[in-house]
Formats: sequence, structure tokens, C-alpha cells
Amino acid sequence: MGQMFQRVKGFQDILGDDCLYWQYAEDTIKAIFKQYSISEVRLPVLERTEVFNRGIGGTTDIVEKEMFTMDDSSGGGTLSLRPEATAGIVRAYIENGLYNPPILHRFYCIGPMFRKENPQKGRFRQFVQGDVEFLGSSSPLTDADIIGMLMSYFDKLGLGKFVKLELNSVGCPKCRPSYQKKLIDYFNGHAGEMCEDCNRRLERNPLRVLDCKQQKCREFIKNAPIMLDELCDECKEHFDNVQYYLGLLNVPFVINPLMVRGLDYYVRTAFEVVTDKLGAASAVGGGGRYDGLVETLGGPSTPGIGFAIGMDRVVALLKEVSTVEKLQPLVYVVTFGDKSLEEGLKVLTRLRSLGIVAEIDYAQKGLKNQMKKADRSGAKYAIIMGEDELARGVVSVRTMANSSQEEMSLENFYKLIKE
Ligand code: AMP
Repeated sequence: MGQMFQRVKGFQDILGDDCLYWQYAEDTIKAIFKQYSISEVRLPVLERTEVFNRGIGGTTDIVEKEMFTMDDSSGGGTLSLRPEATAGIVRAYIENGLYNPPILHRFYCIGPMFRKENPQKGRFRQFVQGDVEFLGSSSPLTDADIIGMLMSYFDKLGLGKFVKLELNSVGCPKCRPSYQKKLIDYFNGHAGEMCEDCNRRLERNPLRVLDCKQQKCREFIKNAPIMLDELCDECKEHFDNVQYYLGLLNVPFVINPLMVRGLDYYVRTAFEVVTDKLGAASAVGGGGRYDGLVETLGGPSTPGIGFAIGMDRVVALLKEVSTVEKLQPLVYVVTFGDKSLEEGLKVLTRLRSLGIVAEIDYAQKGLKNQMKKADRSGAKYAIIMGEDELARGVVSVRTMANSSQEEMSLENFYKLIKE
């Protein structure tokens, strides 16, 4: 063998049964999007870096240090692999004039995102997000409905009892600056106790200090002033209404006044879905309102709200608490020689046209060998097309679980299978 290669750190090969969990997770979310009549968009994984700088914010961890960026040899400037979906969707919304007519537009996109983070359990450099954006409504009912949809996904997967919805309001450009000042004053009083990261954040993006996971920082963060106490009247009314509508929709939530999101574009509603089943990678999804983003990226003033589900973490959670049905045939067709094969292929074709998962042995070795393979395939039945049986107009059907075997007409075999 020649030189062998390994995959790049932080990137994954997803194989075998793992893909069954992925398919289940993706099929289920697509079914929900269909039910809510949300249109799919398929967008490039590469954008001008500026889309993310301006969209996500230049002082966020993502833009400061996590993007895979390369020179654009043709046009100058740089290009980056998308670290999240919203900025690209908004870019496409503006570029394709989708804001016309100015009604509510709803999009979803499922695909890989790229962040140069330190790889660890549940944290990859390429990961998949299921992303939804509602553009064109500032009503708090929109917030409640999109959050309700997000939670219905976890319910549908049977994960409802393992996740919790956390809700907060991060205010708006009117009320946030004065809160931010208060926060900076408070943190300046604790600068000596702060970790290095927090000191940097305090200078560049003070709200992010609230998100520090270090124990020594949590000590003074827990008593920090909170945005909820500083909301302007409009933000407060909006937040009250979001909670009221969530109640009407029977969506349970807890308020986490210290929750801030890692992206700068959020205003008002911010939310996260967390679990205690995945260790440090506890967030399985999150989102919020971003009423200024379309304008920031050069479009007409348009309110928006969206979320992203971390599909890798959904799959990890599914693997932790449930099993999916394996890919296995119901029937394994066993043949010997030309006549038997001819009849066997007819049976195989008929079964498949009936929607039944069936396989045939390609090597056609002896009975023992084929039964071994039938067993390994996980089939429930083996149908044995012996020449002398065919001459008598019957086949042998073996129930693999208990090795009991019975002769029957083909007609009766189809009846049995349909049951
Ligand atoms: P964010 O918008 O950054 O909160 O990301 C939304 C969701 O994507 C998170 O709640 C995670 O479930 C998932 N996610 C974010 N970063 C990663 C990563 N590096 N690896 C795996 N999943 C991630």
C-alpha cells in the first residue's frame, strides 16, 4: 500500500449506522419545515469575508479568530467559509430582491458550517446546522411561533424531555448602550478577578463577558446587572408578549437573564436550547431576532428572526437516548443454479415493486453459506428457491429468528410478507 492520509483535525467521516441517525434527524426536520411551508434555499459555503465581518460583527470570537479565510485571487479582498448561515441568507435575500413584495418570507437551509475552534467532544471545525430565518415581521407572535417550531422538532424526535428552552431579551440599540455602560462599570470593579479572555472581551465586547464559563468569573458574573432590568418600554412590551404567546402555544421556557449569543446582530429576543446530556457542548440550538441586519448588509430596513440547530449535537443526543432502525432486508432470496436464479429474480423484482426491502445472494454458493449471509444481513425471512421445490410449485420459507422452515406456494409467501 502507498502513503495513507488522515482526515484534517476537527473534521469528521460520518459512516455506517451514524448516517441512519443523521437521516432520521434531517428527515424529521424537513418534515417540520414542510408542515410550516418554509422554502428551502441552497447557498454557497463561501462568501466575501466582509459579509460576515459586517453581519456577525468584527469583535465576535467567530470573526476575530474562527473563520477559514483565503485570498480572493481574482477580485482582491478575502473570502471565508461560512461560519453560520444567517449572514449569507440575508446577503442572498437582498441580492435576489426577495424583499419584494415586502411580506413575511421564510427560509430554511441545512448544510455545513466552518469554524476554526479547538476541536473537542461536540465541537468540530466542520459541523452541520439546520437553519431557519423569518424575514419581514417584528411581531412577537413571530418569535413565539418560530420558537414553538424549534421545540416541536425536539418533541418529534423524542428528545423533548432532555432539552430546555432558555429565553432572554438583549434589548435594542436604544436601551442597550446605557446597559452596556452599567455593565462595564460593574466589571471594571472586578477586573482583578477576571480571566484573560474576559479582560479582552470587556474592552471589545462587554456583553460577551456574561458568557464566560470559568468558575472564578461565574462568581462575579452572577451578580452583574442584567439587560432585563434596563429594557426600554418597547422592548419590554415585546418581550412580555413573546412570553404570553409562548404560553398560548404551550411552549415551556425558563428565563436566563445572563444568556447572550455569540453574534452581534441580535436584538430583543434571544434563545437557546440546552441539554445536560452532552457535557460541555450543552447548546443544541439557538437563535434570536436581528431587526437591523438586512439594513447593515445593504438592504431595506427589514425585521428578522431565526435560529440554528446544531445537527451534530442532535445526532449525539439521539445516539445517547434512543436507537434507530437499522437498514436490513425483510427477505433474503436464496437460489441455486440457472432455473432457481431465474425464479428468484422474479420474486426479488416483485418484492421490490411491493416496496419490500429484499436482497439476493450474488455468489450463489451452497445453502449453508447463503443462510449464513442471510443471517448476517438481518433479514427476517429467507426464501429458498430449491429446484425440486420449484418443480412441485412451492418454495421454502425460513423464519430466521427461530430457524423454523415451512414449504408454501409463492402466493402464500406473498400473503405472509404483506402481513
Ligand atoms: P450558534 O449560533 O453559534 O449558537 O450555533 C448554533 C448551534 O450550532 C449551537 O447551539 C451548536 O449546537 C451548534 N454549533 C456551534 N458551533 C459548533 C461546533 N463548532 N461544532 C458543533 N456544533 C456547533
